[in-house]
Amino acid sequence: MPEEKRNSERVKIFGTAGSPLGYMIRDFLHRSDIPFQWVELRNDEQARTFAGVSGVKDSRLPVCVFQDGTRLECPTIRQIVEKLGWFRDPSRSEYDLAIYGAGPAGLSAAVYGASEGLATVVVERWTVGGQAGSTTKIENYLGFPSGISGAELAERAREQACRFGAELLIGREGVRGEFMPGKGVGYLADGTKIVARATICATGVDYRRLNVAGEERLLGAGLYYGAGASEAALCRPTDDIYIVGGGNSAGQAAMHFSRVVRSVTIVVRGASLKETISQYLLDRIQSSHRVRVLTNSEVTALEGDSMLEAIIVRNRLTGEQKRFATHWLFVCIGGVPRTEWAEEVGIKRDEAGYLITGPDLSQGQNPPEKWPLDRPPYYLETSMPGVFAAGDVRHGSIKRCASAVGEGAMAVAFVQRYLAGG
Ligand SMILES: Cc1cc2nc3c(=O)[nH]c(=O)nc-3n(C[C@H](O)[C@H](O)[C@H](O)COP(=O)(O)OP(=O)(O)OC[C@H]3O[C@@H](n4cnc5c(N)ncnc54)[C@H](O)[C@@H]3O)c2cc1C
Repeated sequence: MPEEKRNSERVKIFGTAGSPLGYMIRDFLHRSDIPFQWVELRNDEQARTFAGVSGVKDSRLPVCVFQDGTRLECPTIRQIVEKLGWFRDPSRSEYDLAIYGAGPAGLSAAVYGASEGLATVVVERWTVGGQAGSTTKIENYLGFPSGISGAELAERAREQACRFGAELLIGREGVRGEFMPGKGVGYLADGTKIVARATICATGVDYRRLNVAGEERLLGAGLYYGAGASEAALCRPTDDIYIVGGGNSAGQAAMHFSRVVRSVTIVVRGASLKETISQYLLDRIQSSHRVRVLTNSEVTALEGDSMLEAIIVRNRLTGEQKRFATHWLFVCIGGVPRTEWAEEVGIKRDEAGYLITGPDLSQGQNPPEKWPLDRPPYYLETSMPGVFAAGDVRHGSIKRCASAVGEGAMAVAFVQRYLAGG
């Protein structure tokens, strides 16, 4: 991000520890690569002096103050998006290409679509970067030998896509689709309609939940999904952090937090991390004196009313339960695709909800059932002609940034063939 932009968009957020909205705003700004300062209010006097509210229980908290002096009290993300000047309505009544999701796959499709001259719109329900935006360092992405933060990678891609003329609708969620030959209509949650000749679904996956009592209550108040890149700066050297999950995202988070806190514990259901984590991360975890791994273990309960106070971990082999006091639990246990909309319009999904594409749709030499064209589906085309899937949402995808980016670019090549009448 250019320096002048960084400075002009600096935000101060005044709030109390354990505020779910405070977390949501921090997460949004962090992923959007907008520099911000979180000012934690510890008592009524600080609330009055710094935030201009009556006390720490004041419902106007959190308060955001932008560099131009604008003050937003208890703002919605939509209000912040508007304040950043990112809120816009579609400028066209019809596009060549509509992309849903601005993670690595969607952003890549936007760059390639727009640079190939397609009138391209991207609809993103949160902010750019997707899952990648939640990680502090991606170390295996080609061309960045020292690694790059997910938020920075996403911001660069956003800028690149916009420079080529792609339209980005941030904070807007696609909820339903209607498809007819040569035309798709996407309906957004706020009632906006997006009409396009071709569609790429790049909606990735949603974090899988722990499914324990108290999850909703403590979300953003000690319990976080993903690697918690926005939270690391708030951790103290006396903190003990718990991370659930045995994949690379859990490993990355552990290594990141281990630099700033007293201890990091990875809680994993399996007997070891060996099968699930990349060797380079495993080596680092094993050689860190601050990281320990509880294998054959699962979190079975959360304690705390307005803030996480402790977790209960059960050993799956012995049944023994232990209580660990902590204010920090990060859950990195993979994701699930949210593709119910596809079911409604007859687009084929696998049992887990991933969109099936190309050769995986065909039954032996035969085209898929109800496929209306003479040609078989293109490699990344779903069972609906003109609707493509790229990245983690696709059945059989690799679940890596590079492959999502590759699929985004590839999907555009097939979109072009489709639009050319092939
Ligand atoms: C913590 C973490 C660390 C990781 N580290 C690495 C790594 O180091 N290296 C690596 O290669 N991979 C890594 N990965 C995996 C990688 O991030 C994913 O494979 C990649 O982000 C998938 O990209 P995607 O675009 O397919 O989907 P996603 O990244 O999931 O993006 C999907 C986007 O679609 C949006 N969306 C969803 N539904 C809708 C809707 N209805 N309307 C509009 N928008 C919608 C979402 O908000 C999201 O922004 C990591 C993943 C995580 C969670």
